[in-house]
Amino acid sequence: MNKKIFYSIWLVTISVLISCIAFLMVILYNYFTSEQLEQLRNETKLVTQGVIMNRESYFENLDTTDFRITWITPEGQILYDNEADTTAMENHLEREEIQDALENGYGESSRYSSTLSEKQLYTAQRLPDGTVLRLSMTQAAIWIYFLRFSVFVVIAILLALLLSRSIAFRLSKKIVEPLNKINLEEPMDAGKTPVYEEIRPLLKRLDEQYKQIQKDREELEKASLIRQEFTANASHELKTPLHVISGYAELLEHGMVKEEDIPSFAGKIRAEAQRMTKLVEDIIDLSKLDSGGKDMNRENTDLYRIAQNAAESLEAEAEQNRIHISVEGESTIIEGIPQVLYSMVYNLCLNAVKYSDSGNDVRIRVENREKEAVLSVTDHGIGIPKEELDRIFERFYRVDKSRSKEVGGTGLGLSIVKHGAKIHDAEIQVSSEVGEGSVFTVIFPK
Ligand code: ADP
Repeated sequence: MNKKIFYSIWLVTISVLISCIAFLMVILYNYFTSEQLEQLRNETKLVTQGVIMNRESYFENLDTTDFRITWITPEGQILYDNEADTTAMENHLEREEIQDALENGYGESSRYSSTLSEKQLYTAQRLPDGTVLRLSMTQAAIWIYFLRFSVFVVIAILLALLLSRSIAFRLSKKIVEPLNKINLEEPMDAGKTPVYEEIRPLLKRLDEQYKQIQKDREELEKASLIRQEFTANASHELKTPLHVISGYAELLEHGMVKEEDIPSFAGKIRAEAQRMTKLVEDIIDLSKLDSGGKDMNRENTDLYRIAQNAAESLEAEAEQNRIHISVEGESTIIEGIPQVLYSMVYNLCLNAVKYSDSGNDVRIRVENREKEAVLSVTDHGIGIPKEELDRIFERFYRVDKSRSKEVGGTGLGLSIVKHGAKIHDAEIQVSSEVGEGSVFTVIFPK
């Protein structure tokens, strides 16, 4: 990058300097031309005066001059020429400046010589006797001036090259050095990063990006830790019912269970198998939610209908504990993933049933507000201590482990609710009093 900037600056500086030199030469050339013309006009006036007063004798006393003087009759015949043989000269009547002088008293013109390296400037003045006095001078073409000054031009260009090289070198260094010295970890720290105003926006962006990368890295590390913990917990949770099942099966295999106890053993095996099935189902649900629900279809879903379905599915389990589940509210349509919404309502309602004592009712309510849909599940069960409220949504976290196991809990229900809420941009609120009951509220934006 340094080289690129260096060459760009160098090129620009050289171009500017060379253009300046060329421009100056043109201006000087124009200035000299007008000065020469002015000189020619003044000389014409002087010679005219001289010839009027002294006639031919004026030329006899004439010193060598920078100008060519020609005296011409009104018919174009040459009377006198200070540089050429008058007899060999052709008739001058057709010359532009002579024509002008004869018609208007005075005329001017200029002509390039055949080599194009010179230009002749002419002035012609008609005298009172009708003859015409013409003065001319040679002017070199502009490129001859360039050639004449070539040594100076070359020196100026060389100087320009050297000067622009050193300017380009310093400038490119000044631009690039701070960029190379940027402290990527703390780009905005003036002490660690040399700053000039123009790179501030870049530093700001780098700073934002670095912070974002740090944040993403921390999140990734956290996610990886959670995954590791989850795998360890899941295998432990799966192993426990398997041990129980194989223990009972072994007893049955070796005929160590009395005939009348066989149904109770079989019941225990079935209960453990059911717990495992629920655990595997919850793990599958969670892993689907972990991907953010990207592969699942969102559609307009009636939350009230979902609440009714969940209540129906739990009816048998609730009845066993003499718990009545009521569904209140009205049809409320939200855009969501039906199976996830069902899992959320089902798990909240299942918890309300599991952690309620026999005879206590559970109420599901769906409210259709202007900008949000609100689902609440209220129970009058055991409640949750305030200090545990922050942790109950963690995977495999249980307030009372033995009670959870006793009622077939997996420790994953509220995690599923939390993830489900997240992918629906919903907010979860919990209020609970130990011994009084709990209210879980999920607010879905419409
Ligand atoms: P689990 O399968 O153990 O119920 P959850 O993730 O659903 O797992 O819940 C985590 C813990 O939160 C439960 O073990 C329980 O201690 C507590 N909990 C959840 N819901 C309720 C509730 N409605 N009443 C009392 N405690 C609850």
